[in-house]
Parts: sequence; structure tokens; C-alpha cells
Amino acid sequence: MPRWTCALGHRVEADSEDELVRKVQEHMRREHGMEVSRERILRDLRDE
Ligand SMILES: [Zn+2]
Repeated sequence: MPRWTCALGHRVEADSEDELVRKVQEHMRREHGMEVSRERILRDLRDE
């Protein structure tokens, strides 16, 4: 299951990569007022 953690330690989980990207973008926009590109999110996933 794809999982992602933002710089402040909030965890985002989803059933698929597409859903995860959507959820992460929503989280970053709502909680941090930031726009994050899909490429950036996927790169972070692979770095983990
Ligand atoms: Zn966060």
C-alpha cells in the first residue's frame, strides 16, 4: 500500500498511487497551503 509522510510527519495512505497523489495534494493544499507536483510526490515515494 503506497504511503507518504509530509515534512511535519502527517501520514497519508491510499489504495493506489493515483489516489495517494490526489490525497497528498489535497493535504498539502489544505494543511500547508502548498501545491506539490505529482512528479515530486512520486519521487519522494521512491526515496523512502
Ligand atoms: Zn502535513
